[in-house]
Amino acid sequence: MGELLRVENLVKYFAVEQGVIASKLSKKVHAVDGVSLSVNAGETLGLVGESGCGKSTTGRCIIRLLEPTSGSIVFDGMDVRALRGKALQGFRREVQFIFQDPYASLNPRMTIGEIVTEPLAVHSVGTKGERRTRAKELLEVVGLNPEHINRYPHEFSGGQRQRIGVARALALSPKLIICDEPVSALDVSIQAQVINLLDELQEQFGLTYVFIAHDLSVVRHISDRVAVMYLGTIVEAGDWKGLYDQPYHPYTQSLLSAVPVPDPEKQRSRQRIILQGDVPSPIDPPTGCRFHTRCPVAQFPKCSEEVPELREVAPGHQAACHFAKVFPIPEDASEQPLGAAEAV
Ligand code: SF4
Repeated sequence: MGELLRVENLVKYFAVEQGVIASKLSKKVHAVDGVSLSVNAGETLGLVGESGCGKSTTGRCIIRLLEPTSGSIVFDGMDVRALRGKALQGFRREVQFIFQDPYASLNPRMTIGEIVTEPLAVHSVGTKGERRTRAKELLEVVGLNPEHINRYPHEFSGGQRQRIGVARALALSPKLIICDEPVSALDVSIQAQVINLLDELQEQFGLTYVFIAHDLSVVRHISDRVAVMYLGTIVEAGDWKGLYDQPYHPYTQSLLSAVPVPDPEKQRSRQRIILQGDVPSPIDPPTGCRFHTRCPVAQFPKCSEEVPELREVAPGHQAACHFAKVFPIPEDASEQPLGAAEAV
């Protein structure tokens, strides 16, 4: 599998307006601060972290829904940040986005046929009749009845609406799909169906995914590799089994400790790592290791003064912690059933 996407040192700051005086407009939200990642063709990278950690902003920068402040994005050999005009249009055919909220992301005044064919119309693909035929095919592919092509979004359940979003994302036969928390607004029972659908479509069409979620138990079921984000940076990354079996970063360990295991005896013997305090403000992130204000094993002054590099801690596994190897490993974290975290 060749590399399809490479992101290096991606930075996205948002200016914060503090008052009417222009000189006070200097503060910035450090939403994404030096993220590097790569995704091979045909694989899924899970991007995980709490709300506000910068994972969705990273996804939106990759597809250029947001303009990055700095950094490089290379997709299929193209320098994405340099693309303009037709080249940018071509890129937007090959990379699609599935939004989190299946209620807000579909235009209530359009039929699902119009919604699914809109990307084809925007890119002038096919005649009206051909686009309608394609819409029916796509509805069938995602498990919806093509006869319902003239219905409106409100006539469908949340899970069905997300299937409509998936059909729309598939319309232009993209190579990469950024799935931005595509199941977090759905019931636990429906989440598995949508994840399974994405899994099947990946196999059928050779798709590549960046799958964004705040829950490690969700990405475990679809990811080949996982990257964990905290306050705008990646703190740990590796293949899913290595990361779930042997998390090296205290933040990943705390996320995994919140996910119950199916065996009640093991569950009783596990200890939940409860982090103290709130996530610090991204306007003024902590010095040194950004996690030091909440880390249960921080050591001072090193952790508050020195920024830990994301370094190799095992083959194909990186962590950004000065003391990455010395922590205990939570038991059987890789055995989690899908949606288990929501059950607690
Ligand atoms: Fe905790 Fe220090 Fe490691 Fe950061 S570098 S995760 S504060 S031990």
